[in-house]
Order: sequence, then structure tokens, then C-alpha cells
Amino acid sequence: MGLRTWFKPWWKPTIDCEKHGKGNDTFKRGGGNAECWSCYIDEFVNRNDTLETVENRVQKKYPKAKLYYFCDPDNYVHGKITGIEREFNKQLCNNNIGWFTYVSFYYNTNRKIKPLVAGKSGTDKVKAGYPDIGFSYSYKNKSNRITQPARYFLSMKKGRDWCKDKILVIPANCEGEAFGIETWLMEEFSLFGC
Ligand SMILES: [Zn+2]
Repeated sequence: MGLRTWFKPWWKPTIDCEKHGKGNDTFKRGGGNAECWSCYIDEFVNRNDTLETVENRVQKKYPKAKLYYFCDPDNYVHGKITGIEREFNKQLCNNNIGWFTYVSFYYNTNRKIKPLVAGKSGTDKVKAGYPDIGFSYSYKNKSNRITQPARYFLSMKKGRDWCKDKILVIPANCEGEAFGIETWLMEEFSLFGC
């Protein structure tokens, strides 16, 4: 399995696949051709990285990277993440963090914690409002098109869910640096951007 390049969701109605039959959803990674979404997911779930391997490799490159824990993940209710966002913002500000990049994780069907999304955000030191860490489940836009592949991936199988109480944070000196780290994370671990 080669290194994945930066990828973005790109959906068109359907694609025919030898393995999954006719009429499959499509997925496109940056620069690549549209491919069968189910084939992509078959490969994604078999990737070996876990929370521990990601944490180790990221800390080798970015020694300031740190795993944050939320003491009250149940604060998260139906997409209202104010409680968890406020707590997260406070923890980061206490560590003097402004812009940052993060990796969020999911539980697979064997309750293993695996990496899912790379993103960048900031605390209220550098932007208005709390960091948006997005443990949401809605994956379609108003036109009913799938625009959030990570959430769609979670919805595909019972037992897959966000790991809402741990997030890996890499502090950055500015938004541009956070963006560069995000790109590296996506390529290094084949993560979704949303
Ligand atoms: Zn397929």
C-alpha cells in the first residue's frame, strides 16, 4: 500500500466496481481518479495505525504534540459540543496554545482506537470562539449530497464511533504552520479532512 496523497471527497453519482457491483459511491483523492468508495474503505479499515503508533510518530516529528483528555465526554449531546469545546479551549489556553493541528480518532468495531481526521483550529487566543473539533454525525449537505466522508464512514457500520475523549494536538506558531502540519498528517496517515 503506497503513501496516500492529499485527498478530498469528490462525489459523483455512481461507479461500477468488479468487487462491489454496479452503482457504488465514488471517492477521489487529490490528483487521483474517482474510485469505488467501498474499495477505499476496505483498505482504510485494514490500516495498521492506532492511537499509540500515531502519537509516537507525530511526537518524533513534533515533540510538542500531546494527547488531551476530556474528563466529561458525556457533555457532548446531539451535536451541541459547547461543553466539550469550552473545556478543550480552557485546557489548550492553559498550555498557551493558539493555532494548532489535531488528529481525532474513532473506535472500530473491535473497540480499537484508530486515527480518522486531521484538522486545524485555534483557541480563543487567536480567533473568535472555541475550537471546532466536530464530533458530529451529519454527513450530508442541504442538497442531500455526502460532503463529510469521515462521518459517513462512521455511519456505515454499527459499533464505529468517534473517540470523543481523546485528541492529539500539535501546537503551531501561526495558521499557515498549522495548515502545513495538517497536510503532512493527512499524507502520512491517510486521514480524512472532514
Ligand atoms: Zn469496490
